[in-house]
Amino acid sequence: MPNPSAPRNNGKQQDPAVRRRNFEEVALTFTKEEALAEADRCLHCPTHPCQNACPVGVHIPDFIALIKAGDVGGAASEIMKTSLLPAICGRVCPQEKHCEGHCVLKAKFGAVNIGGLERYAADTARAQGALKPPVPAASTGKKVVCIGSGPSSLACAAELRRAGHEVTVLEALHAYGGVLRYGIPAFRLPREVINKEVETVQAMGVQFKTDVLVGATIKVDELLKEYDAVYIGSGAGLPTMLGIPGENGVGVYSANEFLTRINLMQAYKFPQTDTPIQAGKHVIVLGGGNSAMDAARCAMRLGPQSVTIAYRRSREEMPARAAEVEHAQEEGIQFEYLVTPKEILQDEKGHVTAIHFTRNELGAPDEKGRRRPVEIPGSDFVQPADTVITAIGQRPNPTITKTTSGLKTTERGVIALNEKGETSLPGVYAGGDIIRGGATVLLAMNDGIAAAERINEYLKGK
Ligand code: FAD
Ligand code: SF4
Repeated sequence: MPNPSAPRNNGKQQDPAVRRRNFEEVALTFTKEEALAEADRCLHCPTHPCQNACPVGVHIPDFIALIKAGDVGGAASEIMKTSLLPAICGRVCPQEKHCEGHCVLKAKFGAVNIGGLERYAADTARAQGALKPPVPAASTGKKVVCIGSGPSSLACAAELRRAGHEVTVLEALHAYGGVLRYGIPAFRLPREVINKEVETVQAMGVQFKTDVLVGATIKVDELLKEYDAVYIGSGAGLPTMLGIPGENGVGVYSANEFLTRINLMQAYKFPQTDTPIQAGKHVIVLGGGNSAMDAARCAMRLGPQSVTIAYRRSREEMPARAAEVEHAQEEGIQFEYLVTPKEILQDEKGHVTAIHFTRNELGAPDEKGRRRPVEIPGSDFVQPADTVITAIGQRPNPTITKTTSGLKTTERGVIALNEKGETSLPGVYAGGDIIRGGATVLLAMNDGIAAAERINEYLKGK
């Protein structure tokens, strides 16, 4: 009999006082005993509201039942029927908004820790050598290229390969994974986990090439001559600027640059590595999403006296994963809610000294239903800072769209899709942040999977 009233196990974590100064993984994978006890809480609801709320429809009650039965390899295979990156999704998906947010146990006893169980199944099956990549169908003789190696392209490439096509992934950087590697820090997603998930896709026979900047090294028009279809999963790697005075001061980073230096170039190991990074005594991070949390928590690990996240709305509207906000608080990061930066102040040499803010109250909801921040007249204040990190959003890099004639974009610069999910060019498909302008790993993967289905249809008619 299930035991739903047992308390939810959030999993063990590194002690905040220790982890705030290291880059080792914060959350630890369940032990077998913990996983079995957590799996035992699941009621295996026939209508599976958790599964219905998962963007890629992971067979949640089924994989939990397999864990309960002691078949960890079977549980991982069950997840991989719809999600090729279970060790990643178990760690970084906003489960509280998707599956766990719809678990029937949520209100009374606390949702089943589905993310923790997914991660347990993937990590344990992999450690036991029981995580098997799907076997591709017989060769179709068709060739498809996926641009970018973020979660969207990885999911698309794996699905296309599963269908028997020859698939190549082209990546502009020297390492694979997109934001998973250059944005999300190792203490949330160890590099080894990304490497292993990419190896699973490679083991299916997908070819990978680094240092290929499509739009410069080779153009989409040229790719269309070599391949039967093209998938663009090039993400949204350009930072949005604040547009306030002082933004070019010495000591101001975009979260994108700050995180890339730390995560991709391992600047926190400088001078053992080539790339330096500076976090002075007082760091202020502007924003309230995952990038802001990651930047603040990375900055904290560089040893400043204080790190503050300044957000223009309240805690309720913050888009970051709930667990990351809690972890940031535990690590000693301060939060200043309902504030808008007006100017970044500098000394005579251009070094940042402080931020001039005004305070806000919440007004009417915007088009996304979040209440708008409204400035309170006369509420100005100045907060000292020598490092400022801006994390207020991302937008697509135009390298591909500007060099591909006939590829339509919207006024936001994202690739436009018609009602059938097609771009304006036959044989060219797109998904992930390049069509959304910034979303989540699972939504990006879902786009890649949906595009693979469309590409399969398109190739049948070719
Ligand atoms: P990306 O992951 O951006 O990958 C695109 C890839 O394409 C990159 O590797 C890039 O180098 C490559 N590329 C770009 N242009 C070219 C070109 N011209 N030629 C060849 N290659 C090219 N989501 C969550 O669900 N949970 C989280 O915890 C979370 N944390 C985040 C933290 C940060 C700091 C950021 C920035 C985002 C976070 N997100 C999170 C959002 C999530 O990571 C993205 O929505 C997702 O990675 C988008 O996937 P993608 O494949 O579309 O693009
Ligand atoms: Fe199990 Fe919760 Fe999903 Fe029901 S909703 S099947 S209890 S995880």
